[in-house]
Amino acid sequence: MKLELAAAKKWIDLFVQQLENQQTTLNELDTAIGDGDHGTNMKRGAIAIGESFEKKNPENLADLYKATAFAMIQKVGGASGPLYGTAFLDMSKAVKSENIELADLIQIGTDGLKRRGESDVGMKTMIDVWQPVSDALAANKFDQAVIDSALESVKGLVATKGRASYLEEKSKGHIDPGAQSSAYLFIALLEVMGE
Ligand code: ADP
Ligand code: MG
Repeated sequence: MKLELAAAKKWIDLFVQQLENQQTTLNELDTAIGDGDHGTNMKRGAIAIGESFEKKNPENLADLYKATAFAMIQKVGGASGPLYGTAFLDMSKAVKSENIELADLIQIGTDGLKRRGESDVGMKTMIDVWQPVSDALAANKFDQAVIDSALESVKGLVATKGRASYLEEKSKGHIDPGAQSSAYLFIALLEVMGE
């Protein structure tokens, strides 16, 4: 399936809403294995996305993903800002000339994360949610269970990238904050796909 502009806009709006509501949860996850700011960072980004859409309503998919990327890059900060920013910027470039399949779009975002983060699956990062979602979309098997089981798997991993990697074995047993914020992104996606 392909996501048209109205549905894609709703997807990002729902993500923004969720980030505004879940600041505390994300900060708590980051307090356990990082520096406690992921919720604050993402909420700042969410507000910036909302302001950007208000200032200029995106006229096409490329604009929508680009505005999302710029808000993330400029306002989120930390490691996650440039990572989400790169994913959405790559997605924006990919839909520039024509709309593409959702599975391909999410894989392009995932590849952007890997390139920017010099990371891959299994390192206990947001990639451990993006990649399984992308795979499930490609196999036409994307549902809530995919997100739930990705988060469950992330919990068991030892972090080898990002701040959590300083904890080595002690990072085990915790959900990675970036994986959780990405889970919110894909819960929002499921919601618009169901309409
Ligand atoms: P910071 O770690 O600078 O405080 P945040 O707390 O906002 O930034 O974001 C942390 C999240 O970023 C982690 O939970 C992880 O998902 C993600 N992350 C950090 N480094 C990488 C990396 N190299 N590749 C992919 N994701 C990463
Ligand atoms: Mg942090």
